[in-house]
Amino acid sequence: DPQIVWLRRDLRLRDHAAFTAAAQAGPVIPVYVLDDETPADGRYDRRMGGATRWRLHHALGRLSDDLGRHRSKLILRRGRAAEEICSLASETGAKTVHVLHHYEPWWVKAQDELGAALDLQLHDGNYLLPPGTVTTGSGTPYKIYTPFKNAMFKIIDGFDILPEPEISSPESWPESDDLAHWDLLPSKPDWAGGMREFWGDQHGTRAAMERFDTFLNVVFEYDDDRNLPADDATSRMSPHLHHGEVSPRMLWETMNRLRSDGATTFREELVWRDFAQNIICQFPCYTEESYRDGYDDAIWRNPNRGHLIAEELEAWKRGRTGYPIVDAGMRELWGAGWMHNRVRMITASFLIKHLLIDWRHGERWFWDTLVDADYGSNGTNWQWVSGTGVDSSMFVRIMAPLSQSEKFNAGDYIRKWVPELADLDDKAIHDPEAHGCRPDDYPAKLIGHGEARERALAAYRKNKS
Ligand code: FAD
Repeated sequence: DPQIVWLRRDLRLRDHAAFTAAAQAGPVIPVYVLDDETPADGRYDRRMGGATRWRLHHALGRLSDDLGRHRSKLILRRGRAAEEICSLASETGAKTVHVLHHYEPWWVKAQDELGAALDLQLHDGNYLLPPGTVTTGSGTPYKIYTPFKNAMFKIIDGFDILPEPEISSPESWPESDDLAHWDLLPSKPDWAGGMREFWGDQHGTRAAMERFDTFLNVVFEYDDDRNLPADDATSRMSPHLHHGEVSPRMLWETMNRLRSDGATTFREELVWRDFAQNIICQFPCYTEESYRDGYDDAIWRNPNRGHLIAEELEAWKRGRTGYPIVDAGMRELWGAGWMHNRVRMITASFLIKHLLIDWRHGERWFWDTLVDADYGSNGTNWQWVSGTGVDSSMFVRIMAPLSQSEKFNAGDYIRKWVPELADLDDKAIHDPEAHGCRPDDYPAKLIGHGEARERALAAYRKNKS
C-alpha cells in the first residue's frame, strides 16, 4: 500500500521518523496542505502571518528539490487538511498516514479528526523530547524553566539521528497544485525585498547545516556574544527550526560533541523551545490570554479606545518611538522578518511597560512579521517579558532601553537599521535627544524613561489595590 506522509512544520528528510516509518512500509506520497481553515476554526484566528508564508514558500521549494533527488515528489493541496488528506487517501488507495506530532491546539484537533477516519501514525521528533513527557517528581508538568532544563539535561542521553530514508515512489502520482500559483509571496506591494536581501539563499536543510557549521566556529564565544545585536553571534536557526528543515535533535547532537560553555548554553536555548511547547500543551490558549489574573483593560492603555494610543502602537510597529535601540529592532523585524533575541526582549518590554499596551498587540505584530513566528515560543516569550505568565519576571521589573543599548554595545546595530542616526558617535547614538543631536527626521521620544517607569508602577499598584 502507498503510505501518506503529511508534512507541516517538519519540512525535511533527515531525522524524520514519519518519513522513515513510511519508507519502510511502502511507496511514499509526501503531501503538504495549505490550510487556512483549520487554524481559524476556534475562538482565535491563527492563520500564518505574511512573513511566515513567504518563508514557507522557500521551505517547500527546497523540500521539493530534496525529494526530487530521491525521484520522489511533494504533492501540494489546498483546503481543510483533514478533508484533503482523506480525499488523497481515497484517490490513491493509501490507508495509513504518517505524521510528526504537532501540538498547536488546531493541529491537535485536526490530528484527532484524521485519526478517527484513517490509520494515523503519530511519530515524535520536532522537539528534543515529546512535550508532556518530562514531569516533576510528583508527575505534574513543569511550569518553571530552570528545573525543567535540569530534568531535560539529566534525561537526555544523546539521540540517534535518523538518516534520510530510501524513498520509493507510487506507481502513479496524484495531482498536485503548483507552488508558483499559491499566493505565498507578496505581489503588490512587494514588502519582501528586505527579507530577500537579509536571508539570500538561506533556506532548506542544506543551507541550514552550512550555516550551522559556520556558527560552530564561534560557538565558544556564544556565552558572551549572543547578547550583542551588532554581532552575528547567534545561530539564526530559528526559521529552520520553525519550519522543521532541521530537527533540534540534530543540533543538540552536534553540540554534544563540543565541550565548551557556549555549546552548553546553546543546548539550554534549545530547551527553551521545548519548554515553550510544554506550556502550550498545558495551556493551549497561553498565546491568547494572560495567564495571571488582573491583566485586562484595567492596567493596559487600549489602542482601540484612544487615537493617541493607536498612534503610539503604530509608531512602535514602524520603529519611530524615539528610542534608537527599539527603533532599530522594529525596523530589523520589518526588514528582515527576524530580530535579535536581546532586542526582542527590549522592544517587547517597551511596548508593555513604557507604552502600557497589552502584550497581545505586540504578539500579533510579531506573529505577522517574523519568519520564525511560532505559537509556542512567541506566546511564552511575550508573557515572560510582560510578567503575566507562569514563569515570568515580575511586571514591576522594567527594562531600561537606553542603558541596555549601551551595555550591549548596540551602536553599529542602530547605524545599520536607523540610517538617519548613522553619523552619530558612540555616546550619542544610544540617546541622541539627551545629547542635543537628534536629527530632524528622527522622532522625539514618545515618553521619557522616568515618566514611563512611574506610570507603569502606578498602574500596577492601582491594579493590585
Ligand atoms: P540562538 O541564540 O542561536 O538559539 C538557538 C535556538 O534556540 C533558536 O533558534 C530557538 O529555536 C531556540 N531559542 C533561543 N531562545 C529562545 C527563547 N527565548 N524561547 C524559545 N526558543 C528559544 N523564537 C521563535 O523561534 N519564534 C518566535 O515567534 C519567537 N518570538 C519571540 C518573542 C519575544 C518577545 C522574545 C523575547 C523572544 C522570541 N523568540 C522566538 C525567542 C528568540 O528570540 C529566538 O528564538 C531567537 O532570537 C532566534 O535566533 P537564533 O536562532 O539566532 O537563536
